Order: sequence, then structure tokens, then C-alpha cells
Amino acid sequence: MTEQERSIIVKVRVEPGERVRLKERDPRDSSLFRDEKETKAATSALAKDIDVLQDRLYAEGSRALLVILQGTDTSGKDGTIRNVFNATGPLGVSVTPFGVPTKTELAHDYLWRIHAACPRRGTIGIFNRSHYEGVLVEKVRKLSPLALIEQRYDQINAFEKHLTENGTTILKFMLHISKDEQKERLQERLDDPRKHWKFNPGDLDDRVHWDEYQDAYETMLQRCSTHHAPWHVIPADRKWVRNAAVATIVKATLEDMDPQYPKAQWEPGDFTIS
Ligand code: ADP
Repeated sequence: MTEQERSIIVKVRVEPGERVRLKERDPRDSSLFRDEKETKAATSALAKDIDVLQDRLYAEGSRALLVILQGTDTSGKDGTIRNVFNATGPLGVSVTPFGVPTKTELAHDYLWRIHAACPRRGTIGIFNRSHYEGVLVEKVRKLSPLALIEQRYDQINAFEKHLTENGTTILKFMLHISKDEQKERLQERLDDPRKHWKFNPGDLDDRVHWDEYQDAYETMLQRCSTHHAPWHVIPADRKWVRNAAVATIVKATLEDMDPQYPKAQWEPGDFTIS
């Protein structure tokens, strides 16, 4: 890991138990990187590095990486996936979005659908929203009793520990945008016919609850950032900063995992191909 990578990680990682005040974290912060053009080129290079490392992970076939993306509407979860994993071979990547639970999903506990979607060994799994909706939308919209939600922080930590102890490395990213930036992005969805499909009037209802969501995020960050599954707060008003930060951390983590091509059970001279 380079010094620059380390400093980026240190700046955005939430330490276990740390009280994060989102108001004090500037969503427009671009101090992690110098220049937009240079950073975009570096992100493309990182995406290629991620592909090379993913190939090794796939060949090794014994561990997995789970990338969890959370953020308010328009925070750029889809855009992050598109930019960070655009060079990764589709063979070894799965993307799972989690929307309003179906009837079948509601007939089980909230982690049931999550566990079923966790990446198989050798692959990278990306969650667009996740089990954290159980302490975010369900809390803000009062969809579950508060007493049940309160128990979930510990349950989630235990669940994620279970996953990491069984070969899955977990990275969690909160894409932190400002309310003004969200306004602009929602307006674009209304104005640009190519973006109309992205506009969901329900997003306006959620916007009314902005402060409550920010509170719920802060509690989530404080209670569920652990050594085994850390949260990162990514300044996300500038898309190029967001992409670069996430790509840097994904690449550094894969490098740390250091997946190895398996050693062949035969010697090069053992076979001849006619
Ligand atoms: P996105 O907004 O992520 O692009 P959708 O338009 O499909 O995708 O929205 C997903 C919706 O599902 C969000 O409004 C989110 O709050 C909701 N959702 C996800 N998980 C839950 C849950 N456990 N309970 C209630 N709603 C949920």
C-alpha cells in the first residue's frame, strides 16, 4: 500500500466506536486528490488493477470480497459500481440491489435475503443497499418496532463477524452527499428525459426526512464500524473523488488479501498436447 493510499484510508475510515458527525465531514472535500483529470486517469488504472487482483481471487477460489454501498437517493451508488468495476470481468462479480422486501422476504428475518446474496468464494459481491436498510429506512419510516431495530446493530456486527471468519472480507462505504447536491441531482432527473426513469416521487418523501436519515446514518456508523468490517465515509458530491476513493480502498484491500494462483498439481513436462 502506498503512503497516499494509506492516508486516504485513514481519512475516510470510521474507527470502531467513533462518533461521526456528518455535518463536520465536507461532502465536497477534494483534498484527498490533487487534480481531476489526473485522478480520473488514476481511477481507470485502479479499475484495471482490481481486475487483475480479481482474476487471482477467482483462481484461488477460497475467499470472497463483499462491498457494501449505502447512501441517500442520488448519492451515486450505481455510478460508483459503474466506474470502479468497469474493468472487472463479469465472471467473478455479482451486484445485488436491495429494494423494498417482497412478501417472501418479509416472511423471514431481515438477514435472510442478505445471507443468500453474499458472494461465493472467489468472487466480489457488491450490495447496492443492504441489511443496513434495517437500521435506516426501517428506523426513519418506523417500519419496525424501535426495540427490534435497537437489537440489530449487535446482530449485524455478529453476522458480519461470522462472514469474515468464514472467508469473506467486508468493506462498507457510505456515500456522503449534501442536501444541495441531492436537490441538483433530483432536478436533473426531472429535466433530462434520459434520466426520467430514475425519478421516483418517493425520493421526495425521503428528502423530507433528511435530518432523521443523517441521524440514523451516524448511529449506524458509530455502532457498526468494526475492525473486521469497517465503514468508510466517502465525500460524494464530486463524482470523481467518490470513484477514486472507493477504487483506492477496494484495490488496497484486494492487495492486502493477496490472493494467489493455485500451484499446479503437475509439472510443465508432464503432458504433451498432440
Ligand atoms: P435505488 O433507490 O437504490 O436506486 P430503488 O428505487 O429500487 O433503488 O429503491 C429501493 C428502495 O427500497 C429504497 O427506497 C429503499 O429505502 C427501499 N428499501 C430497501 N430495503 C428496505 C427495507 N428493508 N425496508 C423497506 N424499504 C427498503
